[in-house]
Amino acid sequence: MEVCYEAKQIVLPDYIRALTARLEAAGERVYLVGGSLRDILLGQTPHDYDLATSATPQKTVSLFREDFRVIETGLKHGTVTVLSEGNPVEITTFRVDGDYTDGRHPDAVSFTRRIADDLSRRDFTVNAMAYREGEGLIDLFDGKADLRRRIIRTVGESRRRFSEDALRILRAFRFAAQLEFTIDEGTAEGIVACREGLSRIAKERIASEFLRLLRARDPAPALLAMKDSGVFPFVLQNYTPCVEVIRLSSSLPPSEEARLGLLLTGTDRAADILHELKLSNKQITGALAVLRGSAKRIETAADARRLIACCGAWSPLAVRAAILRGNAPKEAVGWVENNDAPVKISELAVTGKDLLSVGLTGKQVGETLNALLAAVIKDPSLNQRDILLAMAKKEGLA
Ligand code: ATP
Ligand code: MG
Repeated sequence: MEVCYEAKQIVLPDYIRALTARLEAAGERVYLVGGSLRDILLGQTPHDYDLATSATPQKTVSLFREDFRVIETGLKHGTVTVLSEGNPVEITTFRVDGDYTDGRHPDAVSFTRRIADDLSRRDFTVNAMAYREGEGLIDLFDGKADLRRRIIRTVGESRRRFSEDALRILRAFRFAAQLEFTIDEGTAEGIVACREGLSRIAKERIASEFLRLLRARDPAPALLAMKDSGVFPFVLQNYTPCVEVIRLSSSLPPSEEARLGLLLTGTDRAADILHELKLSNKQITGALAVLRGSAKRIETAADARRLIACCGAWSPLAVRAAILRGNAPKEAVGWVENNDAPVKISELAVTGKDLLSVGLTGKQVGETLNALLAAVIKDPSLNQRDILLAMAKKEGLA
């Protein structure tokens, strides 16, 4: 990652300049802030642009209402979303946070006319810079130097910032993973001192940051740092994965479900932990499928078909997890990915109806179909109607 030190080289897209020009013409100041500015300074293209302005939310709305689509969703926190050439752009009034008596949310937010106040409330130095055309880069906390040193450091005293809002602890690890930065020493001390505050944070907010961390190219260094700081128990219900499991899970392709599933190898409470994180059904199913599949011993193509029958769409990741755990040889990937033999009841050459017509009843039908599938997975050449019917008569009516 190249760091671009020259803020004057920053060129904003026209659809952003259309918005900033209008605010400035109305006598307001407007800055590019947050992750978008950080990513530009790192030489990357931001996925969205965040603007901060001196204008009140009402004024922003009135300036754009006529000819732009304006969404007032975050109005209470000063955020107005303006759709510019189809791109949603968040414009937020300079803000200061009130006291944090609950360790999660400010008691109140108030608007301010000074960008410096707005930058002071932000979490990390690399996220707390602002840029305005003609004025240049505002960097009150040495964020640019931290980008160059590749470190995540809190704005202000780390213990105070983490006790205000413990979610920032997870955000520190998430940014460290995404940007491939390390966490500053003082910041890491603050994390250890304040980690218990995470027990007051909503699980879905913790999960969202943690999954973003898991999607990073190589999450291992950040996960190892989390382990060293004693943060895992507050994320995964008192479970801390061991170093080896962290390394294995990080070597999987960047699927949050697969990595999370493999990370849960060392506990028998995987399903509870996943449910407590309030993940979606798809996420839980995926993580459990990969975890289950990774434990299967695969020695033959028939074993690989059993894995597909058990893990479905998750089997390409599950077989890789099984290889990493030493339960399958490398060629098992090909067995899974190139399989065209039957692995599902719907792929059998007979149906439940066929079995009813040869005299099987009720519960026998399901059981027999399962038995036939197991036989066909073992030997696909059996998947012929007459063979299966003969087997069914023998099996089901016995
Ligand atoms: P991403 O690329 O993931 O969007 P980002 O830095 O934009 O990264 P966001 O979560 O979108 O991250 O937050 C936008 C900005 O708001 C941050 O850069 C930071 O300045 C500020 N911010 C967000 N959450 C917090 C928080 N909990 N405490 C303090 N500042 C925060
Ligand atoms: Mg953002």
